[in-house]
Amino acid sequence: MSQQGFFTSDEDFSADTPRDSLRNGCAACGLHRTKIHTPKMIPYLNNRLNDEENENADILFIGEAPGKNDDTQGFQFVDKSGRVLRAAIGNKAFFATNAVQCRPATKGKNRPPTEKEIGCCHRRVMVDIKRLQPKVIVPLGNVALKSLIGDRLSGPVYGINRWRGLQIPDQHYGAWICPTFHPSYVMREERNPVVSKIFKEDIDAAFDCVVKMFPRESLEEVKQQVTIYPDGKDAVNQLKDFLCHKPLLMAFDYECDRLLPQRDGEIVCMAISIGPDSAHAFPMTDEVKPIVKQILENEHIGKVAQGIGFEDTWSRVALGAEVRGWKHCTMHAAHVEDNRSKYTGLKFQVYINFGIGDYDSSVAPFLKAKDPTRKNHILDARLEDVMMYCGVDALYTYRLAVKQMEVVG
Ligand code: SF4
Repeated sequence: MSQQGFFTSDEDFSADTPRDSLRNGCAACGLHRTKIHTPKMIPYLNNRLNDEENENADILFIGEAPGKNDDTQGFQFVDKSGRVLRAAIGNKAFFATNAVQCRPATKGKNRPPTEKEIGCCHRRVMVDIKRLQPKVIVPLGNVALKSLIGDRLSGPVYGINRWRGLQIPDQHYGAWICPTFHPSYVMREERNPVVSKIFKEDIDAAFDCVVKMFPRESLEEVKQQVTIYPDGKDAVNQLKDFLCHKPLLMAFDYECDRLLPQRDGEIVCMAISIGPDSAHAFPMTDEVKPIVKQILENEHIGKVAQGIGFEDTWSRVALGAEVRGWKHCTMHAAHVEDNRSKYTGLKFQVYINFGIGDYDSSVAPFLKAKDPTRKNHILDARLEDVMMYCGVDALYTYRLAVKQMEVVG
């Protein structure tokens, strides 16, 4: 599979693009014009500066920005935090770079890079990733994480604690993303042996990913597994088939005209997935409602949803259906798997499990409302876009449930 979507249109340049032609970012940033020794520091390979002949590592570590010693010597991670990183890596080969490639300093002292500097340098980091083609990328700390994935998630990144220890099959980069702490944090916490143990374990797990099979599947390929029925009556035969065969597991999802159900609230469309590679999405018309109600009330069909309270309540209020046969809630199972905060949302779970970020961008603006009881703008969106989004949600909910059941039962 090609690396579809590796660069968005505003990043439309190849790995062969001369780095100097990226000067727009540098011109706006200006750090290379400050009093530093090594402007635009290039990626580093173990104990050598990287050049074309030495590109032989499979893993790329991304830190925050060069410090004084890095800048003086011309290498990333030469100071104390670098020693912490090297101690955890051992003698394995690796590339290293930073989210900001010139040393940020004020009055001669190191300082954290600004948002603007991180944004300006993002394009250079992307070019390096595309040129080096690592199998594994390890963002070290918040700044690297934000540079790497901040522009592709529908919500905020939040801090590294939400991410560390994960191995994400990122489809955009075609590489495993394995975030962990920045080594300077490990250094500051040197009296806490748990932090250095976790850091070492995260890095070992990242190196294990070098030989792990990478599951490639683009969002376009996932969308091809969603069947859309533009007219509800077209879906009736498919729904009758579900009712007849009584699948053991059925993930379903609604898109509604508001968040909280009211008597006059409307389910705009529904999607059902009964297997890992198919989902069916249809508008909630009067033709389908009776058969949907029969499916929901059939206790032999095992039900799965992301946050079952939402689907259960909407089923009751808008369809008059008492859902029977609830089997699994992917939101609750995500919390049982890992109780970190900001961890259970479906979009986050889809990204960390399947490597697809931001698949809701065409619909998300229409789902916003000032008040959860007030109408959103979903009826202004293209119904086919809403159904596709709903279908992808249902498909991923099914896949997530199966994966979670293997872990938490
Ligand atoms: S930090 Fe990055 S964007 Fe800024 S001047 Fe240096 S290389 Fe250019």
